[in-house]
Amino acid sequence: MSGASDPRYACRLAEELAPDVLERFLRYVRIDTQAELDATTYPSSQGQLDLSRLLADELRTLGLADVELTEHGYVLATLPGTVAGARTVALFAHVDTAPDAPGADVRPHVHERWDGAPITLPGDPAQVLDSAALPELADCVGHDLVTSDGTTLLGADDKAGVAEIMAAVAHLVADDGPRAPARIVFTVDEEVGAGTAHLDLEHVAADVGYTLDGSGRGELEVETFSAYAVKVTIRGVVVHPGSAKGRMVSAVRLAADLVASLPRDRLAPEVTEGREGFVHPTRIAGQVAEAAVWFLVRDHDEARLQEHLATLTALVDELREQEPRARVDVRVERQYTNMRHVLDRHPEVVDAAVEAIRRVGLEPRFELIRGGTDGARLSERGLPTPNLFTGGRLYHSVREWASVQDMAAAAATVVELLRLWGVRTG
Ligand SMILES: [Zn+2]
Repeated sequence: MSGASDPRYACRLAEELAPDVLERFLRYVRIDTQAELDATTYPSSQGQLDLSRLLADELRTLGLADVELTEHGYVLATLPGTVAGARTVALFAHVDTAPDAPGADVRPHVHERWDGAPITLPGDPAQVLDSAALPELADCVGHDLVTSDGTTLLGADDKAGVAEIMAAVAHLVADDGPRAPARIVFTVDEEVGAGTAHLDLEHVAADVGYTLDGSGRGELEVETFSAYAVKVTIRGVVVHPGSAKGRMVSAVRLAADLVASLPRDRLAPEVTEGREGFVHPTRIAGQVAEAAVWFLVRDHDEARLQEHLATLTALVDELREQEPRARVDVRVERQYTNMRHVLDRHPEVVDAAVEAIRRVGLEPRFELIRGGTDGARLSERGLPTPNLFTGGRLYHSVREWASVQDMAAAAATVVELLRLWGVRTG
């Protein structure tokens, strides 16, 4: 029923797109685009601009007329539609890779028609991909798999998404069947939480959006956490330790007390999953005079998020009571909001994604994101933007891998989405 001559592909279109997706992917992952934490520039690293420039050139070569590389490193372009009155669909992927594992000198390896035996990554024999421990891998026996050599991340997050959008656009420019106009948007610094910081949505000028930044085959993500970042600053009283009795107030001890007062058997990332939220101390720094603790507060549900925040602030109040001579300040910053609230008001956006995934021969799987995504921020700013699968897995690690067949299915999903929005007018 798939219509593909090679049954490993979800459909004929995926089979057709696969060589182009793979060729682009192998090229893009070799460019070091690793984002940097605490950088003072935007984008945070120059390598991101190298890939952005390349993509802008490739889009021009494909014949797209209004290709732009903005001063912040975003690439924007329009694939014209063929149907009057169709809504404009924005397609997003990010060019940067995560700072969590080495990202320079990526040497991709293609394991063709993988036979199911454990894969020892050639650059580091300690890195083994074993399907006994990885159910999603077991599901890809026979596929062509792409890994790094085990010393770096692969960068499927999110160069799989970039390659899939590019391959879909390359396919559609040569096709005059009905389709909606698309705005192609490649962003930078997503992995350091700033992917859309300088993105002008009026300039994107789309009605609906999709990020290609998910993972396993058929995955469709419509829910993220809602999120606060909290910084607690504690100021103590410094006295020479030799004569400190009854007078010193150590901010170091109070910071440690605060962290120790958090529950450990619940409300921590180490012991939660699914829809359970958490209060997560991510960083602690300081001296006797002043110390600070940084927290992430997360939940999918707004009311429970507020409860978690109240739990933390109550612990801070107890600390103040325990040591009134210390000065304790709390800074709370709202980071992002579960995009489900916005998507629920625009069911047609998710419906189209479901339909497109089915058209390529897959069954959509709704997954919860235990984190954020650019789509959450875009949705909040008025552009409803769910997240689609890309076929990459084990993101942010040296064992990251991707299936060529699943990447091709993701590219085919993009093509089908634009076709679908081309027939849904109004
Ligand atoms: Zn990503």
